[in-house]
Amino acid sequence: MTKLTEIFKSRIAKSGPISLSDYMGECLLHPKHGYYATRDPFGSEGDFTTSPEISQMFGELLGLCLAQSWLQQGSPVQFVLAEIGPGRGTLMADILRATKGVSGFHQAAEITLVEASNVLRDIQKEKLAAYTVNWIDHIANAPTGPLFLVANEFFDALPIRQYVMQDSGWSETHVGLVDGELAFGLSEAVDMPNLESRRENARVGDIVEVCSAATAITDEIAARIGQFGGAAIIVDYGDWRSLGDTLQAMRDHKFVTPLESPGESDLTAHVDFEALSIAAINHTAVSKMIPQGTLLERLGINQRSEMLAKNLSGEQLENHQKAHNRLTAPTEMGTLFKAIAIYPPSTQPPAGFSE
Ligand code: SAH
Repeated sequence: MTKLTEIFKSRIAKSGPISLSDYMGECLLHPKHGYYATRDPFGSEGDFTTSPEISQMFGELLGLCLAQSWLQQGSPVQFVLAEIGPGRGTLMADILRATKGVSGFHQAAEITLVEASNVLRDIQKEKLAAYTVNWIDHIANAPTGPLFLVANEFFDALPIRQYVMQDSGWSETHVGLVDGELAFGLSEAVDMPNLESRRENARVGDIVEVCSAATAITDEIAARIGQFGGAAIIVDYGDWRSLGDTLQAMRDHKFVTPLESPGESDLTAHVDFEALSIAAINHTAVSKMIPQGTLLERLGINQRSEMLAKNLSGEQLENHQKAHNRLTAPTEMGTLFKAIAIYPPSTQPPAGFSE
């Protein structure tokens, strides 16, 4: 039994079932026992791996995409270059290396990382030791001004609430106790907040997930881009208006059940890109959602991959080609992962994206 299992059990015994969102939030970010608060979860030694950890090309291409938008918007002499949920800092390091040659870009950038975990902040500090970096807890605390931002596999780590349509109306999934063990259950009928559009055509048995943190953060990003300019690229796994139970737990590169080892497995849920787009469109323009593979190909991954391959041979070359394939192939991350861009209505969408 993990420490968090004990904490949840005594809390639920005292005051009743908790929402899935409370459960997920504590599992991931409990200051002492939370998953991200206590470890570096990435890479082959960790529980899962992400696109920037698979290949440097991911960050290079996104970095050049942001820099091109910055040039198109008249190269503002001061702007916030932000990443939310930067993990090991690899994506930001690749963005900065790729944009070194873009005249004025680094001088104008106030590098800002939004990171909740102190363990990961330390790793980012080391990785980005050559740069001046500000760490903040929430994007709302970023300096004002044009905002050029990336988020990869950040939104999937935010706590969701889950609602199930029953004969009697919507019930919420909660975590309670059955025979003294943690178990999922359903609340009495509740009023489902937000997502008006999801109430239409709902059928008994439908499951709808709502992530209010994701919409609040997107709202903040889009408001800044609408007011000051900039561009945000959001990449994650999920879909447009995804339906069903998408909560998953991963430990040591394998799926486990979400209640099995709270705080010791990575809990995520698919990102609802429609919900993010609705939040952003109130303030500014949003691109069409496209698959990650399409985005990277439009940004020139094939050419970049060939260039890097020239200096490689044997096992290194093989690994490089495998990594390229993992990022773009439909059977790998190419279609499961999607991307949208948020940008000012007065400009073109960032390279690779369309209106
Ligand atoms: N973008 C990285 C890491 C993704 S993992 C990559 O692609 O490799 C999710 C990241 O988001 C971790 O750095 C985690 O600590 C951070 N995180 C999770 N919830 C957060 C929150 N509410 N606020 C800020 N950071 C958060």
